[in-house]
Order: sequence, then structure tokens, then C-alpha cells
Amino acid sequence: MDIAFIGLGNMGGPMALNLHRAGHAVRACDLSPDARARAADAGLVLADSPASAVQGARLVISMLPASRHVEALYFGDGAAPGLLDHLPAGTLVVDSSTIAAATSRRLAEAGRQRGVAVLDAPVSGGTAGAAAGTLTFMVGGEADALEQARPVLLQMGSNVFHAGAAGAGQAAKICNNLLLGVLMIGTSEALALGVANGLDPTVLSEIMRRSSGGNWALEKYNPYPGVMDGVPASRAYSGGFGTDLMLKDLGLAQDNAVQVGAATPLGSLARSLYAAHSLAGHGHLDFSSIVSLLQRADGDDAPF
Ligand code: NAD
Repeated sequence: MDIAFIGLGNMGGPMALNLHRAGHAVRACDLSPDARARAADAGLVLADSPASAVQGARLVISMLPASRHVEALYFGDGAAPGLLDHLPAGTLVVDSSTIAAATSRRLAEAGRQRGVAVLDAPVSGGTAGAAAGTLTFMVGGEADALEQARPVLLQMGSNVFHAGAAGAGQAAKICNNLLLGVLMIGTSEALALGVANGLDPTVLSEIMRRSSGGNWALEKYNPYPGVMDGVPASRAYSGGFGTDLMLKDLGLAQDNAVQVGAATPLGSLARSLYAAHSLAGHGHLDFSSIVSLLQRADGDDAPF
């Protein structure tokens, strides 16, 4: 299938590559020269602009940082017209960015008026899941559009859930990331407490992983340096899921909680802690670097 893929960052790059390897004719696009160079080195065919990437494409997939990037891409930003103006009726759009549900609903409605079906399909599974093709997709939109997209989504992921109407995928995603943001801080706090008591973080991680504190961070994404290979903590928190992206998602969750009148006290505290971490200059590091806020800064891990 002819597919346009827009946004080749930590997630979009490996996702586009999996579609290329599955035999699709992928035309990829990103604003960043670094992302373009990495994609070209990996064998992807690059287009000069989103408008040229979508020429002849039946499916358009976007994987951008936040709502404002998605709005600029599809609705235009003053400098360039929006992509919706370039898409013929019958095109299917899958936006996998994590953005405000209201923006996803607005995009779906604007697409509907042009005969373009739009799904919000944010993902979970991290950069390792993107590379391995094992992501979980949480999809909002029309069921028949999802059935069209499903075979392609399953070439990038293992699980595809229909959460409900337009925007429902985003609602599911902020619930998941609220939980993830909180559990990463809780896991970091427990590990730092154990190390301050002279425990080996690897041994303590294994104890908690097999006990009632077991969770995804301990299974797949340990935040403590030196405990787990192949995770951001073992490469100075580079790559992965940026602190500023987690901060954005917890902000979306808080905005949404205000709208629907939900109480999210731990989500609110977690957002403040990631904000403090970002203000200290760590916004570009993987979110598991939040452990550094809770570790002794002098490196003397066991003071007694
Ligand atoms: P990233 O910052 O690594 O990549 C985003 C890319 O989009 C960048 O390369 C940027 O240049 C490009 N871009 C921005 N505006 C553009 C435009 N108008 N046209 C073309 N390219 C444009 O971000 P990421 O980590 O890949 O995350 C992407 C989305 O996925 C975010 O919404 C994030 O919250 C979500 N997400 C990330 C992870 C993760 O582990 N990194 C996991 C699940 C979901």
C-alpha cells in the first residue's frame, strides 16, 4: 500500500521502518535534518514536504510531539496550507501522536466533511516496542475505518483496541500515561530508599518485581542506572520517552480531569515533580531520569 508517514522521531522512525520492511511503499517526512538523516540511513524513502509525501497515498500516518504540531500539519500554520486540503476523499488518516482529545475530535470532524476518515491511534510500548513492532494501539473513531487500518497497525504493534468514538483513543492514552508517570516515580522512590539502606538496586528490583510491588517499570524499564541493559537508564537517559513528553501527557490528563470533574491527586503531584525535573534542565532526558530527583546527589548511596 502507498503510505505517507509524517514524524520520524524516537517512535515514528522505527514505526515507519517496520512498514517499509513489511513491503509497503512508504514516503516519509520530518522537519528535523537529524531525523531525516537517520531515516534515510535506515533505508526509508524521504519526501521534501508533507504535501509531497501524501501524493498518491491511501493511508497517512502521523507521529508528532503535541497538539500544536498536529494542528499545524493538518489545518495549516499561516506559512503553509494544511494537509487536509491535499487529501482526496477516501484517504484514511491515522494520527498516533498523543494529543488533546478535543484536537482529535476536531480533526475527525474536519476530515469527515471532506470524506477523509480520521482515527486517533496513540500508542504504548515505548521505543523498544516501536522497534520490535509490539506496540499497543488505542483507537478512537469509526469502526469501519479501524478495520481498514487494522492490518497495517498490526504490522507495527501486537494489540489494537477500539476505545470508542473520535477522541476515545486519546482519553485511554492519558489514563495509561497518568498511571505510568505515577508508577515510575513510585518505583524510583522505592529503589532510592532501598539504596539509601545499603541494598543492591539489582537485588531489590528483582525482589519487588516478584512481589506485590511488581510493575512495568521493574519488568521492562528500570529507572536505576546499571540494573537493566538496553533501557534509557543504561545509556545516560538518552532516547526513550522524553520528560517533557511525559509532562505534556500529565498536563493533558489534568486538563481533562478539570473538564470532567475527576479527582487525580497523584497525577497532579506527578506532573509537578516532572515539571520541577524539567525546570532543572532535564526535559530532554528520558522520563525515568526522574529517579535522579530522589537519589543522593553526592553519590554516597548508603550513609549508615
Ligand atoms: P520525538 O520528539 O522523538 O519525534 C517527533 C518528530 O516529529 C520529530 O522528529 C520532529 O522533528 C517531527 N515533527 C514535528 N512537527 C513536524 C511536522 N509538522 N512535520 C514533520 N515532522 C514534524 O517524539 P516521539 O518520542 O517520537 O513521540 C511522538 C509522539 O508519540 C508524542 O506524542 C509522544 O507523547 C508519543 N509517545 C512517545 C513514546 C516514547 O516512548 N517516546 C511512547 C508512546 C507515545
